[in-house]
Amino acid sequence: MSGKVVIAGIGPGADNLVTPEVSTALAEATDIVGYIPYVERVANRPGLTLHPSDNRVEIDRSRHALEMAVEGRNVVVVSSGDPGVFAMASAVFEAIEAGPEEWRNLEIQVLPGITAMLAASARAGAPLGHDFCTINLSDNLKPWHLIEKRLRLAAQADFAMAFYNPRSKSRPEGFEKTLIILNEECQDDRPVIFARNVSRPDETIKICPLNETTADMADMRTMVIVGSSKTRIINRCGAAPLVYTPRSAS
Ligand code: SAH
Repeated sequence: MSGKVVIAGIGPGADNLVTPEVSTALAEATDIVGYIPYVERVANRPGLTLHPSDNRVEIDRSRHALEMAVEGRNVVVVSSGDPGVFAMASAVFEAIEAGPEEWRNLEIQVLPGITAMLAASARAGAPLGHDFCTINLSDNLKPWHLIEKRLRLAAQADFAMAFYNPRSKSRPEGFEKTLIILNEECQDDRPVIFARNVSRPDETIKICPLNETTADMADMRTMVIVGSSKTRIINRCGAAPLVYTPRSAS
């Protein structure tokens, strides 16, 4: 009998941000597949096999999950945040599309999770309260000129913007170029939010005007949110400021 593949989002870090639906799937799994730090977040127990793997092997990892499901295993593929946002759900579907017919007939489920962008925006206030867009700043899977084009057009369209994977050690120049483009397209005091390790014990939230922002404020554990021209800051005595974008564009 065939098993199934559940592709589950385990949220940004804190246990209480894992949905009950995902907790149930993890409790029923026979096998957990995923990137090492995400698999480490799943408590081991008798009857469960953990299959941690390295970051850049998403399609191999997907094939492995599908092969185990064909053998009758109940496999959960874990992603941080939401599995459909720059994560494993698309990788599993790519593997299914290119794979044997029997993979198409498996039971497949995608279980949503709280994506880093939403956890970060909630911490800062409501910077995504009006129209916004999301860009993955990593050029591992797409050329830099495409990122640059999307960035510039999004800024010109006056979207608030949420950036995943803003700056890695292997490509520190990408975020520097991002800031140059934003400074060309946006006003100086545009609020930029750096939300690092959201919902983890070492969480930090920083808000900085665009013209004072420097590239070293971001790393791969940071979600960067740039307000639109309408985004506002409510300063409060003795409490963190509230950053929000009004519902109305007028
Ligand atoms: N599927 C994930 C995103 C994977 S891309 C999701 O839906 O959240 C990885 C990027 O997500 C990181 O480089 C960082 O920009 C962001 N990220 C993930 N967890 C985060 C957290 N707890 N705090 C801040 N940013 C986070």
